[in-house]
Amino acid sequence: MNTMAALALTQNLRFTPAPPLKTLKQHQRPNPKTLKITASSSSRLSGRKLRAAVIGGGPAGSSAAEALAAGGVETYLFERSPSTAKPCGGAIPLCMIDEFSIPLHLIDRHVTRMKIISPSNLTVDFGSKTLKSHEYIPMLRREVLDSFLRSRAQSNGANFITGLVTDIEVPDSYSSKPYVIHHTVNNCKRSLAVDLIVGADGANSKVAKIIDAGNYSCAIAFQERIKLPDEKMEYYHNLAEMYVGDDVSPDFYAWVFPKCDHVAVGTGTVCAKQNIKGYQRGIRERVREKIKGGKVIKVEAHPIPEHPRPRRVRGRVALVGDAAGYVTKCSGEGIYFAAKSGKMCGEAIVKASEGGEKMVSEEDLKREYLREWDKKYSNTFRFLDLLQRVFYGSDVGREALVELCGDEYVQRMTFDSYLYKKLASGHRWDDLKMVLNTFGTFMKCKVVGREMEALRLSAKRVLF
Ligand SMILES: Cc1cc2nc3c(=O)[nH]c(=O)nc-3n(C[C@H](O)[C@H](O)[C@H](O)COP(=O)(O)OP(=O)(O)OC[C@H]3O[C@@H](n4cnc5c(N)ncnc54)[C@H](O)[C@@H]3O)c2cc1C
Repeated sequence: MNTMAALALTQNLRFTPAPPLKTLKQHQRPNPKTLKITASSSSRLSGRKLRAAVIGGGPAGSSAAEALAAGGVETYLFERSPSTAKPCGGAIPLCMIDEFSIPLHLIDRHVTRMKIISPSNLTVDFGSKTLKSHEYIPMLRREVLDSFLRSRAQSNGANFITGLVTDIEVPDSYSSKPYVIHHTVNNCKRSLAVDLIVGADGANSKVAKIIDAGNYSCAIAFQERIKLPDEKMEYYHNLAEMYVGDDVSPDFYAWVFPKCDHVAVGTGTVCAKQNIKGYQRGIRERVREKIKGGKVIKVEAHPIPEHPRPRRVRGRVALVGDAAGYVTKCSGEGIYFAAKSGKMCGEAIVKASEGGEKMVSEEDLKREYLREWDKKYSNTFRFLDLLQRVFYGSDVGREALVELCGDEYVQRMTFDSYLYKKLASGHRWDDLKMVLNTFGTFMKCKVVGREMEALRLSAKRVLF
């Protein structure tokens, strides 16, 4: 269905028509801060289905649109740029393949080995001994994954609109009037009235701004895609590398990830964004020999949210994926959480609206989506936040992290949590050993840290 038909349908359904775009002035807009929904908004819809707009066709938006359309809600999925690839490493957990029925032929590489490399170049092999024979980390191209998920949403009944959402009119408080989505399709201005909105428009979310969802701090991630000579690419065939140290990031890690026919070499930081190019030089220096002869084919940068937004539901608008702030600290992982939050939000709306037959309210969205999400994942997010603060903040912590990663039990627990998205339940005795090892490592690494500091100071003295 095209947008004009959708708009005509809107008016047939006796929604209040939106004023023409040029007459809309800022002071005439309802104040988003006063947005509230009355109990009457939970009433049964007569002669039509609930209508939802999903803004953003990444993993979060497509998964939300698929769940909504499959559940009987009239769904419109907006994506401004379907052919562009989101800057991303493209690593997903194994459980996502089954849970989201991702066809195996979409996977470019099966990563079965990881190396983590400390500031003093202590290298630990992660995975070669601990991964089971059927386990691996799937690596995909985002343009391939995103277009597959969007097509599936469409085949489940979602109407896809290639268009840029430019503004949203928010209805008066205490009203069940529609939201009006202003957008452009091929430079033509269009509008669509809907009952509710799922904001899946990524880290720079316009939807979040419009509903005054509050800010979050972001890391900046910078990445170069480098095409390597064949023999160098062979080294990264099934291997991903993570580097930690003040030279590559003051508070995150740097990486070399194998992609379909090249590697992505990048780094991220929250606290020193202005130095990101210096950190990128740092990681290039560390892997200099391994990428020698490589040709940079693309340079990209993008924000990564650091924590959930203060408000993720307001009125009949819910945020999902990066727009909501669902990226884990420590790993910077967001694809699975985007798809999962989109799916959970879509299913929650279907449930609350009884298959698109009833209007939903802010309370419905909070109860069926937010509460369930927080129950399932808030501990995971908090735990990884703590790990990042302990291990990424100084070279002492980073040395400790790498040393701990050498422990097979730690590796197994990490893979169980990452690959299957369950907080792993371990064995008491091994857990106790792990805690004691952690303390031991810290004490030892304090010495290593001091030694490194002394080394650095003496190097300075020699050089200057
Ligand atoms: C360099 C880098 C590497 C990463 N590597 C990994 C990794 O290996 N594994 C992992 O799990 N995570 C990784 N992440 C995080 C991951 O990319 C995100 O968490 C994930 O893309 C979030 O999905 P999303 O659907 O919420 O948002 P996005 O993927 O950002 O999708 C949002 C979509 O909304 C569209 N849009 C935005 N505004 C509008 C508008 N006004 N109108 C219409 N459409 C709009 C955009 O075009 C975009 O397609 C990485 C991030 C970065 C920056």
